[in-house]
Amino acid sequence: DGDGRGADGDAPASVLGVRVTHPGRIMMPEADMTKGDLARYYARAGERMTVLAGDRPVSLLRCPSGRDGDTFFQKHAGKGFPDEIDEVEITESSGTPAQYMVIRSPQGFVAAAQMGTVEFHIWGARTDDLEKPDRLVFDLDPDEGLDFGDVKAAAKDIRDMLKRVGLDSVAMVTGGKGVHVIVPLRRVSDWETVTGFARTFAHLLAHRRPERYVATMSKAKRKGKIFIDWLRNDRGSTAVAPYSVRARANAPVAVPVTWQELARLKSANSFDTRQALKRLGKPCPLLEASTSPGQSISRPVVEALEKLIG
Ligand code: ATP
Ligand code: MN
Ligand code: MN
Repeated sequence: DGDGRGADGDAPASVLGVRVTHPGRIMMPEADMTKGDLARYYARAGERMTVLAGDRPVSLLRCPSGRDGDTFFQKHAGKGFPDEIDEVEITESSGTPAQYMVIRSPQGFVAAAQMGTVEFHIWGARTDDLEKPDRLVFDLDPDEGLDFGDVKAAAKDIRDMLKRVGLDSVAMVTGGKGVHVIVPLRRVSDWETVTGFARTFAHLLAHRRPERYVATMSKAKRKGKIFIDWLRNDRGSTAVAPYSVRARANAPVAVPVTWQELARLKSANSFDTRQALKRLGKPCPLLEASTSPGQSISRPVVEALEKLIG
């Protein structure tokens, strides 16, 4: 039965030299996707992901018996972790040091898949300078009842206003309901500056269009609106990694898209792994924008934002 599915023919496989046990285990039932499929997907996407999501603290959404079983979010490295996943010690806000996971190779993503990982979530800073973020993200979360057209309009509003203060941005569909608007940064500002900018920017938008946007967490205030989640920009917060599979029905993938492409997309979860892999041969808008970005939350950017506030 050479397809490697089911209890028979489920012998360990080698993917990029990483031993993958139970490759035939169904992880994503709706997509008929196995653990072996996930490992092979991450092997192929691994190089791109190493550039965009590597060398930074990473949290794993693990689903040891598939997305229908128990799932848990893991922030810290544990005993018996594979060699392919590195560790970095970080002092948390409480003052206690903790071991965080870091992936620096395609094999690391495969090793995580071997542990039942479906999703990867990343910090906005790299390990060689954890106090200087290299990206900022606005996570657009629509309330129930809003459609993807509303999300796209919001993403474009954010893009336009970022442009007005001098910042270029890239859109990523999350594989869920929303869009992340990502601003690659040169690493000069600290977390306080970046968090402060994100907070002020989101509140300004909500203040200007209160019928459409909300910038506070309160669920009650979100009715019929899009929550501009700026809280992903704290030291220690994460956002889903580009090209991560999502543990949601049909195994959608988080994919960076050009603004032109976004305009034509029908949903945030329209890329499956096959379509995501096809994009690896082509330029990635986030990869291009992230390669030595010239922009930062500079004095002129802050002043331009203050001017908009009036
Ligand atoms: P969607 O487009 O459906 O909102 P999303 O990835 O943006 O997808 P959110 O619920 O908005 O999902 O979460 C944003 C980010 O916050 C996640 O990608 C993740 O990195 C982080 N996050 C969410 N839930 C948790 C959690 N339970 N523990 C830690 N981090 C989380
Ligand atoms: Mn979201
Ligand atoms: Mn959110």
